[in-house]
Formats: sequence, structure tokens, C-alpha cells
Amino acid sequence: MAGKHKNRCSFCGRTEDEVALLLTGLSGFICDECARQAEQIVRENMGSKVRQKAGNGAELNMDELPKPRDIKNFLDQYVIGQDSAKRYLSVAVYNHYKRLAQKVDDDGVEIEKSNIIMVGSTGTGKTLLARTIAKLLKVPFTIVDATIFTEAGYVGEDVESILTRLLQVADYDVTATERGIVFIDEIDKIARKQDNPSITRDVSGEGVQQGLLKLLEGSIVNVPPKGGRKHPDQDYIHVDTRNILFICGGAFDGIERKIAQRLNTHVVGYDSVQNQQKIDTKDLMKYVMPQDLKSFGLIPEIIGRLPVLTYLNPLDREALRKILTEPKNSLVKQQIKLFAMDGIKLTFEEEALDYIVDKAIEYKLGARGLRSIMEGIMIEAQYNAPSKDEKTLTITRQYAEEQIEKQKEKLSKS
Ligand code: ADP
Repeated sequence: MAGKHKNRCSFCGRTEDEVALLLTGLSGFICDECARQAEQIVRENMGSKVRQKAGNGAELNMDELPKPRDIKNFLDQYVIGQDSAKRYLSVAVYNHYKRLAQKVDDDGVEIEKSNIIMVGSTGTGKTLLARTIAKLLKVPFTIVDATIFTEAGYVGEDVESILTRLLQVADYDVTATERGIVFIDEIDKIARKQDNPSITRDVSGEGVQQGLLKLLEGSIVNVPPKGGRKHPDQDYIHVDTRNILFICGGAFDGIERKIAQRLNTHVVGYDSVQNQQKIDTKDLMKYVMPQDLKSFGLIPEIIGRLPVLTYLNPLDREALRKILTEPKNSLVKQQIKLFAMDGIKLTFEEEALDYIVDKAIEYKLGARGLRSIMEGIMIEAQYNAPSKDEKTLTITRQYAEEQIEKQKEKLSKS
């Protein structure tokens, strides 16, 4: 029988006909699937081996690390405004390095970590700040969305999977993971729902916050190496979160109301008139305090573990206008580059850019809207220009308006 003589994978026993690829070794065979699995197992185990070898990990050389001002200058190249948040972030990252470099035995003084929470409406640059800072970090970094988490036992991911991602970024090097930084986006989505009756379980609220608390306060956490849900048969990787820096961001829609309520109760007093004059009612976010997060539905223990609280301003017309042109990879610079690759010199008239900003404000989309409006204006030129002979293209306000009108017509017909 011919089948008897077929080569088989020495690991899974499948024949060469049953697998995509069978590699030959000195005294056996391995199929593509087993090879892939073996690679995964090696990666996962290497982390703990490296940890055993390297002890507490390699030390960071403070002289080589960017100082807070350097970090802020770097952020300035990509993110418009948001000075307060940039300063807080720069200092937090720098202090994180210091903490990693500290020798605790010297004087008994141990620098504790200061996790951060950034509050600001959607589209004001929270994620952009996090992504930008990641470019110059010397430690593993990952961004996770809090909305994917649910309480253990429900559909969704366990909070421990945050660490799975960090492990993956660090190539399963546990020591490196334990020095990393995690940005948790949309933290406000796990706030306790006030109108949620206590008899039904608040699946995405307090339970998740309790789970997250474990990570924030620093403990040894059992991390499923492949993420997803914990499973009794799975081998866990133990990760100590004591030195992992957590940066949280959230829009906290409606928190201004809580801030206003608090300010109101405060200004009732003998100096109320004086205080009231000082309050900038258009921009209440800058008065945000930990107690407002509590009124919003974060549990006090979580707030206590996020001692640095900063805010992002809503973007006004001037900021939106700058965002179009000034950042290192601004939308205008990106379009110019796209056309330059076809040998076409693209320019925008100032009025055309003003129009884009007007539309973004009209659609109430903030900075997020700039991109879709820009794409809408440029799609036709991007389609036609590469096949034409003209080597220059100027976008005027009239052209921009026409393109947006065309889009609207298309939408109304469809
Ligand atoms: P958030 O996380 O606050 O909801 P994002 O950081 O995702 O907002 O911002 C959405 C997009 O808007 C970004 O990709 C970026 O292009 C633009 N943007 C937002 N804020 C700024 C800013 N302050 N400076 C430059 N671009 C910004």
C-alpha cells in the first residue's frame, strides 16, 4: 500500500498529502502548522527565560533619555495645542524612566508611579498624543480600548488581555513588558451607569473597573499569552504590573455638567461673586477634578490609582486651521506628497482651507471631520490627475465647494 510509505509529521502524524508543507529533518519531519505552533511556544517561553537571565532587566541610561522639554517639543511637531496634557505626559514619561532607573536600596525612598488620566472631548487629540509619544519611547507601548472589556464570565475580553498586548509588543519578553506603558482609551465607557439598578449586573461597569484596579495598583497578574478569555487549561505568563505605567483617556461626555454643578455649590459663599467672575464657563473642562470623575461613575479606588489628571481643550476654528497645515504629517502635507509622487505640484488656496474648517465646524466633527472633508474634495483630482498632462493643480475655494456639493448630490441620490 502506497500510503504506508508516505512521510508523516513527527509531531501531529499527518501525512504529506494532508498538510501544506512538510519539512525534513535528520530523523523526522515537521509540518507547517506544527512548525508555526512550535515558534509560538518558543516565543512565549523565551520571555520567562530572558527574565531569569536578566534579573530585573537592563538599566536605562538617564543621560540618553529625552527630557520632559524634549518630549514636549517632539509632541509639538505633531499635535496642535493641548499644552497642559503635553506637559503632564512628558513629565509622566520622564518620571517613568526615572522610576525604572532608580536603585531603591540607596536611601529607602521609592518613587511611586503616577498613572495618568486625560479628559477631553472626542477628536481633540488624546489618541494622537498617545501614538505620537509612542514613537520616541524606549519601552514597550500599546493602546487598548476599554470598550472591549467585560466582567469575567461575560462575552468580551478579560482586562488581563491588556497585558497580552503589551507582551506581544515586547515579543513576549516579560522583563520588558513589566517596564512598559499602556494607553487605555475610552476609559469613560466603563463608568458605572447611574441608572443601572443594582439588582441587574453592570457588566461593562463596576466589575470591569474592579478588574482594572488590580492592574493599576500593581500586582502579579496571570496573563493568557494569546489573549481573549482566561481558560483553566491555559498556561499563564505571570506579569508584575508594579512598574507598568497606565495612561487613560476618555471623552467623559457631559462631565461639564458635573463640573458646573460642583463649581456652583462651591461659589455659594462669602466670596462667591469674586469666584464666579473668574470661571470661564465656555471651557469648564479645565476645572476638572477627581470628584467629577467620581460623579461620572468611576469608582474612587480607580481614581486614586490615576493621580495625575489632565484635560484637553475643545478645538476651536484657529486650532482646526492649524491642524490642516502645521503638524509634521498634516493633511495638506500628505496630499501634496501624494500628488508629488505623480510629478504634480499641488497647492491649496487659503480660502479653500478656510472652507474645509467651516465645513468641519458645520458638521460638528471637530478634527476628525477634516480628513473626510479633505478626502471628499480631493477624490476626483486623485482619480483624474495622474492620467493628465498638467503638472500643477491649485485647489480653490470654488473647486472645494463644487466637490462637496457633488458629494452631497450623490448621497441624496443613493
Ligand atoms: P481622541 O482620541 O481625542 O478622540 P484623536 O486623537 O483620535 O482624538 O483625533 C482624531 C484625529 O484628529 C487625529 O487623527 C488627528 O488627525 C486629528 N487631531 C485631533 N486633535 C488634534 C490636535 N490637537 N492636533 C493635531 N491633530 C489633531
